[in-house]
Amino acid sequence: MSMGHGGMGMGRGMRNFMSEEEKATAPKVTKELVLRVFSWLKPYWKQLMLTLLCIIISTILSIMPTVLTGQIIDQGLIGRDLNRLIFLIILSLLVTFGSNLIGVGESYLNSWIAQHITFDMRNQMYRHLESMSQRFFTSSNQGDIITRMTSDIDGVQQIITNTFSSILSNSITLIVALVAMYRKNWVLATLGIIIVPLFTIPTRKAGKTRWSLTKEAQACNDEINGILNETLSVSGQTLVKLFCKEEEEYQKYEASNRRMIELNIKESMAGRWFRVVLSTVASVGPMLLYLVGGILMMKYNSDITVGDITVLVSLLGRMYGPVNQLLNIQVDWIRSMAMFTRIFEYFDMVPEIQNPENPVIPDVCTGAVQFDHVGFYYDPEREILKDISFELKSGHSVAIVGPSGSGKSTIINLIPRLYDVVKGTVFFSGQDVRDLDLTWLRRHIGIVTQDTYLFNGTIRENLLYAKPDATEEELRQACAKANILDFVEKQEKGFDAMVGNRGLKLSGGEKQRISIARILLKDPSLLVFDEATSALDSISEQKIQDAIDPLIASRTSILIAHRLSTILAADEILVVKDGEIVERGQHAELVRRNGVYTELYNTQFGKAAELQAPEGSEAGKVAGWNASYTEGEDLVEYWDGTAFSKM
Ligand code: ATP
Repeated sequence: MSMGHGGMGMGRGMRNFMSEEEKATAPKVTKELVLRVFSWLKPYWKQLMLTLLCIIISTILSIMPTVLTGQIIDQGLIGRDLNRLIFLIILSLLVTFGSNLIGVGESYLNSWIAQHITFDMRNQMYRHLESMSQRFFTSSNQGDIITRMTSDIDGVQQIITNTFSSILSNSITLIVALVAMYRKNWVLATLGIIIVPLFTIPTRKAGKTRWSLTKEAQACNDEINGILNETLSVSGQTLVKLFCKEEEEYQKYEASNRRMIELNIKESMAGRWFRVVLSTVASVGPMLLYLVGGILMMKYNSDITVGDITVLVSLLGRMYGPVNQLLNIQVDWIRSMAMFTRIFEYFDMVPEIQNPENPVIPDVCTGAVQFDHVGFYYDPEREILKDISFELKSGHSVAIVGPSGSGKSTIINLIPRLYDVVKGTVFFSGQDVRDLDLTWLRRHIGIVTQDTYLFNGTIRENLLYAKPDATEEELRQACAKANILDFVEKQEKGFDAMVGNRGLKLSGGEKQRISIARILLKDPSLLVFDEATSALDSISEQKIQDAIDPLIASRTSILIAHRLSTILAADEILVVKDGEIVERGQHAELVRRNGVYTELYNTQFGKAAELQAPEGSEAGKVAGWNASYTEGEDLVEYWDGTAFSKM
């Protein structure tokens, strides 16, 4: 589990926090980045123009009552003209109403645009993540993926609804207020403007602090998501329970959670002090205007009126908000760009495995597989497969055996291109897999994995995943062949019984047989069966065996085998050790060779080795051999330590 910024204690001061590395990772707001952000807005330019128009009109209208106040005072009150007073009051109210009405339209447009952009972004991101290869998912932190899909994209929505529109409306308010002020009195207007820059000093300071806190809060959020994802999943919880790690996990969660609240408090306090300074500065401005205005009126006989001074003070008041927000926006802007950068980072990841430019789609699929001097590693420092060569002809089957971690599953992963070879070539149906159309390739390969994955839904939904248009009869046939029909029929709801989260309401054997039925519905040209190493009871084993035996006999298949009966069902056995094929052939000859296979056979099968190895390789003969040894009991043997499982 990534600890993110776990090393940074909360006790440290903010100066320590902004490490060189973080400064380096703060997004550089380049022209390209801004253009890229705006490219997402492009499809909605008409709605944007309309929003802009709404913002301009409503902002101008919202400043008008302030300007009208001057006339209300001078012409209505001081001039003692009741009709004029009533007219100005009604006009002022109407203008306010109009401005708010347009504001409603603007909010609607704003959130409509924001929602549509995030809708586009989420869909594109999901599509993009789907195209990412296996390596991305095995090496990325799940919490991080979820955070980018959810909070970061939500953040983008916030940016559009708040940041962009606030930049616009605040700028317009400022311009309109300035123009109105200068039209009243240039001396007082200039004085007002001089006060405004005083804001920049505290804003800058608060901005920096907020930016650091935001970054740390994001990392902390990723970390919390990671913990939740890992420990609150079914498998995670099972592990936690079985290792009695509840307290330890709780402590870890509590620590992250505490860090999060501390960060949140700090963030809100950073804003609080900032406001104290601002409001103090803000109260100085109007007083100065009254003073200078009064001096102008009394000492210099200026034609400035009481109404004018009142209007100027109100307009100055109207400017503080926008200036404050615009200065803060610098932080919001960087923060927004950081979010966009995080999202674009994902968009820019090039999927490792891609469809070739001119994909080959053969007319027929033979299902044949050939490995030609294949070499592979997940990580360049550790070679996993070395010079693997073998050929599996159409209609034949091959069993891959070897100690755990020898690279058996890795060999399988290379066929549907979950990973690409580093050296050599993998051929499927006579073509280099890298030239084939990816969908075509994967459609013709069916893999029953060790760790069977079922979606949380009904048995039917899980089966239809392979063939959405399968009829009830096809479902029944597939289940009958997979030896699971009895079980389904025993369920109160039959095919509509729920399988639970990841299929956990079912036993390992039942899950595997359902996944065999699912593969049967897919009807692939090449069947890969990664036999579970976990010990199932012998009835389950036998049922699975009965299900796969006819399958193997009738189609091209690769079996990663742990049980003797499966191994014997194959036409050829490949013995893999440390990523190399060290022996190949048939059971009888391999046992006699006194090599790795014999060693595996002796050590893993224990006493079984004392018995004479069977002459033939057909399952039938061996079944007899098993029976003679176990004195009538059903015997299931594993290559791994579990050895015997008796009825
Ligand atoms: P088992 O019988 O236990 O399933 P296996 O023979 O199928 O084992 P593989 O799963 O192919 O073995 O693994 C071969 C080696 O590659 C192992 O040492 C494993 O640690 C490593 N490995 C497997 N998957 C990855 C991965 N995604 N990234 C890095 N290393 C991996």
